[in-house]
Amino acid sequence: MAETENKYILRGGQFLVKETNCQDVFTPEDFSEEQRMMKEAVMEFNDREIIAHKDRFEAKDYALTEEVMRKAGELGFLGVAVPEAYGGLGMGFVSTCLTCDYISSGTGSFSTAFGAHTGIGTMPITLYGTEEQKQKYVPKLATGEWFGAYCLTEPDAGSDANSGKTTAELSADGKSYKINGQKMWISNAGFCSLMIVFARIEDDKNITGFIVEYDPENPNGITLGEEEHKLGIRASSTRQVFFNDTVVPVENMLAGRGEGFKIAMNALNVGRIKLAAACLDSQRRILTTAVQYANERKQFKTPIADFGAIKMKLAKMASDAYAGESATYRAAKNIEDRIALREAAGNSHQEAELKGVEEYAIECSILKVAVSEDVQNCADEGIQIFGGMGFSEETPMEAAWRDARIARIYEGTNEINRMLSVGMLVKKAMKGHVDLLGPAQAVQEELLGIPSFETPDYSELFSEEKAMIAKMKKVFLMVAGAAVQKFGTELEKHQQLLIAAADILIEIYMAESAILRTEKNAKRFGEDAQSVQIAMSKLYLYNALNTVEDKGRESIISFAEGDEQRMMLMGLKRYTKYQNYPDIVDLRNEIAEKVKAENKYCF
Ligand SMILES: Cc1cc2nc3c(=O)[nH]c(=O)nc-3n(C[C@H](O)[C@H](O)[C@H](O)COP(=O)(O)OP(=O)(O)OC[C@H]3O[C@@H](n4cnc5c(N)ncnc54)[C@H](O)[C@@H]3O)c2cc1C
Repeated sequence: MAETENKYILRGGQFLVKETNCQDVFTPEDFSEEQRMMKEAVMEFNDREIIAHKDRFEAKDYALTEEVMRKAGELGFLGVAVPEAYGGLGMGFVSTCLTCDYISSGTGSFSTAFGAHTGIGTMPITLYGTEEQKQKYVPKLATGEWFGAYCLTEPDAGSDANSGKTTAELSADGKSYKINGQKMWISNAGFCSLMIVFARIEDDKNITGFIVEYDPENPNGITLGEEEHKLGIRASSTRQVFFNDTVVPVENMLAGRGEGFKIAMNALNVGRIKLAAACLDSQRRILTTAVQYANERKQFKTPIADFGAIKMKLAKMASDAYAGESATYRAAKNIEDRIALREAAGNSHQEAELKGVEEYAIECSILKVAVSEDVQNCADEGIQIFGGMGFSEETPMEAAWRDARIARIYEGTNEINRMLSVGMLVKKAMKGHVDLLGPAQAVQEELLGIPSFETPDYSELFSEEKAMIAKMKKVFLMVAGAAVQKFGTELEKHQQLLIAAADILIEIYMAESAILRTEKNAKRFGEDAQSVQIAMSKLYLYNALNTVEDKGRESIISFAEGDEQRMMLMGLKRYTKYQNYPDIVDLRNEIAEKVKAENKYCF
């Protein structure tokens, strides 16, 4: 376990088997002065340049997306994560996530253009490029002089990204490669000057990454399909890209031959946590718009915000957004600290960043799934709160709902990310990076033993909730441990089981993050000042436990029989039972009353 500034940083996935002290998590309340200023600047940009022109984005004004991207570049927002040596601001990972968060809520169109450019369009070069490649391309990308696109997906290679048919053939003089093939769903294709293209050399097992320049005046065999007509993110340029004998100098190969799949996957790790961040401010804004409407709109001579049916929605929307913020910034800071540790140990920034993000790939997948689903649910309930008006293009809920939908599909579908999160954890355990075996055995022994009949003292804030989190972890260890024992390397074929286990894992991380954030803040700002945050954390945990119980039961029944099944179901019951059940209706009312009184998301 590593230590910086007297603080423990858990390794990726270790949250499951180690207790985290609330003082060791970073929360949005810990933003530095510089980060607060950045947040203000980005919010102001979002209001002025994006939200003010929402109608034009919805009317598929692709030129506007490009124009606003250029303005974002002029203000430095495209280069937040880029080291100063390559023309960026060289800010840390938390600031990178913060920028994605607050710049993304105006419209999914801009959010996608921004994410594709700063993430998968630029990161492969900053993470894997040679010094010459970085000097040549990154300053142009960091300032918005050029825009980047990422060409991985093909008509027959989507989730199975390494199966692409695009080829790269070395020229007879050994100086260049000729790329031939077809890519589809390429964000920013319509206005990019650079593409990160993945192609296969000969019969290589793995694809290879290339930096390909694109100039419409001198297309070098590159042609673009028409703009796709999409459900949402309507002004995000999405086109097919065709390569016909496109010549790329050998020095534009990224990393080594056959390294492309690794690059693609690591770029996606970064993309996933940034995508989670990019779904946060949308939730805040949707909730704010919804509560403002609910306070105004009267039915039965009563503001609809006063109805319990609406309050329960407002409370859930708020607590989900709060948990999403808590978990995203917790993981972002872990990544930032891990990068700093590696740099202190002598790694180059490039190497440190690569390994730092890779370390938390499990958390990145968890966040991608959880927050993309939260923003979708939030928008869905937003429509419901608006009633018929929610279904109208004239109110913002309709576009928010359509825009939210893509987040579950790109950067690896949520199905793939769910299975990845558990698969990566099992792999880490096998490599000895996370000790799952010891804790899983301890749970098995506990199940065989006689349960304690003592009544613990849960009077201290969150003592019972933290005990419940520890028990949720036992459910995961019980289910995943037994499944690994039963199926061994065949586990990956049991997808429904993996998905159920992933749901348990996700709820543990999200609920624990919300509780740790609130506990830390209650200690410094006082419990009274945090009473609504306490309610949100408790509500989130209660809902999480329901998921854990449901998914745990489903898993156990699917692979265990007879006495083993009975024992595990009893364990599940024991691990999901509160000593003192929270009054969920009271919690929801407290949260909703606060949001109603403030007329906005106010945490
Ligand atoms: C608007 C938009 C923008 C995009 N931008 C880019 C971009 O800039 N660059 C780029 O390279 N790509 C981009 N994509 C592509 C995107 O990453 C893919 O759509 C995504 O990876 C899924 O691939 P697919 O569409 O081929 O679906 P498929 O892989 O065919 O999946 C279809 C369904 O089957 C499921 N499935 C697939 N394989 C498995 C499996 N092994 N086990 C269980 N379930 C499985 C999936 O989860 C999904 O539900 C974009 C897509 C869209 C829609």
